[in-house]
Amino acid sequence: MTATPTARLVVAPGDPRTDARVRYAFSAYAALYGIRVVDDHPADVCVAHGDVDEHADVVLPAGYRPRPESQPAPAPSWQDGMPCFHLAPTGEPDVLGEVFEWLAAPHEQACTALDDVGRVPPEHTLAGSHDIDRTIPWANRWLARLHAAVRAALPRLPPTPPSPFGPGRTFVASHDMDHLSADRLVNTRRVARNVGIALVQERRPRTGLQIVGAAAHRIRRRRPVVNGVDDLLAGEAARNVRATYTVVAESTHRRDPGYRLDEPLVRQTLRRIAEDGHELAVHGSYRSLERPGQLAHEFALLAAAGHPATGCRQHWLRHRGAELFTALEGIGAEWDSTRGHPDVVGYRHGAAFPFLPYDLERERPRRLVEIPLVVMERALGRVSDVPEEWPGIAVDVLRGAGADGWGGTAVLWHDVAVPGTTLGRGFAEAYWAVLDAGDRWTTATEVAVATRARWAAAGALPATAARR
Ligand SMILES: [Zn+2]
Repeated sequence: MTATPTARLVVAPGDPRTDARVRYAFSAYAALYGIRVVDDHPADVCVAHGDVDEHADVVLPAGYRPRPESQPAPAPSWQDGMPCFHLAPTGEPDVLGEVFEWLAAPHEQACTALDDVGRVPPEHTLAGSHDIDRTIPWANRWLARLHAAVRAALPRLPPTPPSPFGPGRTFVASHDMDHLSADRLVNTRRVARNVGIALVQERRPRTGLQIVGAAAHRIRRRRPVVNGVDDLLAGEAARNVRATYTVVAESTHRRDPGYRLDEPLVRQTLRRIAEDGHELAVHGSYRSLERPGQLAHEFALLAAAGHPATGCRQHWLRHRGAELFTALEGIGAEWDSTRGHPDVVGYRHGAAFPFLPYDLERERPRRLVEIPLVVMERALGRVSDVPEEWPGIAVDVLRGAGADGWGGTAVLWHDVAVPGTTLGRGFAEAYWAVLDAGDRWTTATEVAVATRARWAAAGALPATAARR
């Protein structure tokens, strides 16, 4: 086995924020391509950002300028089909500056137009504000360009990002459990509400009819009417797929599921999921970030129920941004997978790879891994009315990085989408078709552990945090 290639980044002296941010973006590059970043001589390749006094094998144009926090990103200029936010005085893009813009998303920090749930809506993200195609992972594209330049100087580098999981692509399958009730009345009400949503809110009478038909079918066969965990466990066991199931440990709002960890059905369900080798994680309740200590309390409750969790996805994807990552760092969590959209397919951070979010306040990478949420089943229904097209749409977007990525991103299929009594027909079949498309599937924790090791080697974590 050949030794891990090493690289050194020399940044032209200037604003310390620029220095920290450019180094963070370079760590993203090194982590994706399996390169170790060293601070001192000698390295296999030396990369300079801007004009430096010493010899460098690759010199990158420097144009990145930090903006005040309240200032959104200006409209990009387009060059060679790429949106550019940070041009050097020479007119060339600052590749590391562009990668920082996507991964750290300071543009979202400046957003004042939150939706009625308190989230940054899709139309106000970097891609949304500037009408940039979200199904293209722009950060991968920039890193591939950078890699072409670095590899010209060091040809023994692999041509494409090596996956920590071996050849091919690996993705995370996840299921948020938003409804777990054995009560027939609760379940009947839930189905009635779903029919109402289909007919009134969405004006899809066919979906309403499908839900009624699916419910009748499940009742006749004495199967759970709303909850699809049984179906998921059976299908995943048959395919030898391990997934991540998230649980609301305590309901804090009427928009929360309302189940309790001490209910027999809930206990039983969690035990069966764990026994099948899947991961259980926290589904942060609606108010988990509003009440001090609430998210930590939910991690503690799940641990006390026998299922210690290493990560989280927020229910309703409810979060503003930094407050979620600060809470998770405080808890010592390994990962989050909230960064996506409920109704839009694609890359919120332009990244078809897992990454450490950036702390704009402390000017350093966060001590946890973000596993971008790329496809939520419900969003497929907004892209196409034809269920047969959903698997192809999902797989195409997941593989959007082409040869410039190895995966490490997530899909979300709610267990309630599987019986056909929530969103109508076709979502279960679409999930199985996505799993059967030829990629490898694993849990969020496995991706987080591999990612953390890569970023540690890329110099983004202090030695103590890297060992944890
Ligand atoms: Zn949820």
